[in-house]
Amino acid sequence: MLKELLAGAGAGLLIVLLTGGLDVMPVAMLALLAGLFWFLVDSRSGRRFEVVSSPQPGAAGPRVTFDDIGGQEVPKRELLEALDFVREADRVAAMGIRPLRGILLAGPPGTGKTLMAKAAANYADSVFISASGSQFVEMYAGVGAQRVRRLFRDAREQAKRLGKSSAMIFLDELEVLGGRRGQHGGHVEYDQTLNQLLVEMDGLTPHDPVRVLVIGATNRVDLLDPALLRPGRFDRVVHVDLPDREGRLHILRIHAKGKPLAVDVDLAEVARDTFGFSGAHLESLLNEAAILAMRAGKEQITAQEIREAIDKVMMGEKRDLKPRLDELRRVAYHEIGHAIAAELVRPGAVAAVTVTPRGRALGYMRQTPADDQYLYTAEELHGQIAVLLAGAVAEEIAFGNRSTGSAGDFEQAAALAERIVHAGLSRLGIVHKDRLAPNVLHDEIQHILDGETARVRAWLKPRRAVMDELARRLLEEERVDGDVLRMQLAMADAAAAAAAAGAPGAAPPAPA
Ligand code: ADP
Repeated sequence: MLKELLAGAGAGLLIVLLTGGLDVMPVAMLALLAGLFWFLVDSRSGRRFEVVSSPQPGAAGPRVTFDDIGGQEVPKRELLEALDFVREADRVAAMGIRPLRGILLAGPPGTGKTLMAKAAANYADSVFISASGSQFVEMYAGVGAQRVRRLFRDAREQAKRLGKSSAMIFLDELEVLGGRRGQHGGHVEYDQTLNQLLVEMDGLTPHDPVRVLVIGATNRVDLLDPALLRPGRFDRVVHVDLPDREGRLHILRIHAKGKPLAVDVDLAEVARDTFGFSGAHLESLLNEAAILAMRAGKEQITAQEIREAIDKVMMGEKRDLKPRLDELRRVAYHEIGHAIAAELVRPGAVAAVTVTPRGRALGYMRQTPADDQYLYTAEELHGQIAVLLAGAVAEEIAFGNRSTGSAGDFEQAAALAERIVHAGLSRLGIVHKDRLAPNVLHDEIQHILDGETARVRAWLKPRRAVMDELARRLLEEERVDGDVLRMQLAMADAAAAAAAAGAPGAAPPAPA
């Protein structure tokens, strides 16, 4: 406020001086220097540092509890165990146990680390203060360290004000401030900030009037300075992974509360279809579905909105691209190629094929994962490669050439082939990753890719007629569901088999 008043007064003065015909240059220069000085002092004192505190008991707003966190049973249990040390601090001190100063939550974004920290604060009846690593990084040396001091001071002061005996400091993106020291090319700022954090943590004792626990979160534990992970600092590392199928169902149930779902929505099915989704993705999926239903003027969220929302969260927003008709035709054949191969590799695999531009793709085929899978056999990996290559093979069959649209597929296919080699599942047998000559690796990858290309060609060539039919339908309706695709495919295969049985020698159509 004061700033605005002074700025206004300054401008006024300048106008008066100008209209008075005076030489204003010296005055203007002085004002500029004063302004610059002010800016520097302001940022150095850390006044722009915002400490975000969550609504606490007594304040309005919902409180997060461990019941609001779906899946993640193991991390929850580990965290609860650790928190009992905080809740029973007196007994811990009496036994001479080293106090717990820090817990590190490690895992990908959106898996509920912030939620857990909030629930932890709630469980231990502590004040909750959060800051993110990037808030400590400044151009001016010393500012980050000062902010760290402020953060700890604020936590204690707030706890005292609210009559709490403990405080939890949540530090998100810990790797930004806690990266390995000496790695920032002469930039001492990070190092000072990290040192200050270590000093603050080492100074925490069980006899403090306000016991402080630091909860760090990162998805890159490997980047952290080892000093942070030493005993007495971030003692406990709790891994928070992407939720498994059961976890996803749990999270969906939590976020479906208060949303009117139609009877045709089966959350267990949604959980199955969303392998790789984080908690944040699942929350967003249900929210998007609700928005779509509202826009469509429906009273309830139906399976149709859920399907559309999965596509949106997975592939990104629909784009307003208008590909030319010949491009669209190519995309249609490409996706149908993927889909037919996917069905042959694993019947029932295809959820839907679309030619709607979304995110970076012009069209896509979505598969239904059979189940969460963490180990793969050579056969399964070969199958995945076949599905990836089938887009380009279909283009080749329909148009006689390929396009740039397959570059991403090839990249993934080559990566899978490399995985086969490194896992000792190729003709080379067990290999040492680092001692394998690049040309040998390259030749083996090529061999795998060539083999799969030939296999896919043999699948698709005799199915040219059904490819044409499915592509026509896809262009007309923009989307073909897995069931429709399977029916068409089964009919075509039955007709081919009948023809082969009826007129031996004449069918199946011989691959050219
Ligand atoms: P992180 O800190 O791991 O990046 P957040 O805790 O900020 O993730 O999660 C973001 C949002 O995603 C939450 O507000 C919540 O709506 C949803 N979410 C994430 N994980 C879960 C979970 N395990 N259970 C319920 N909701 C979750």
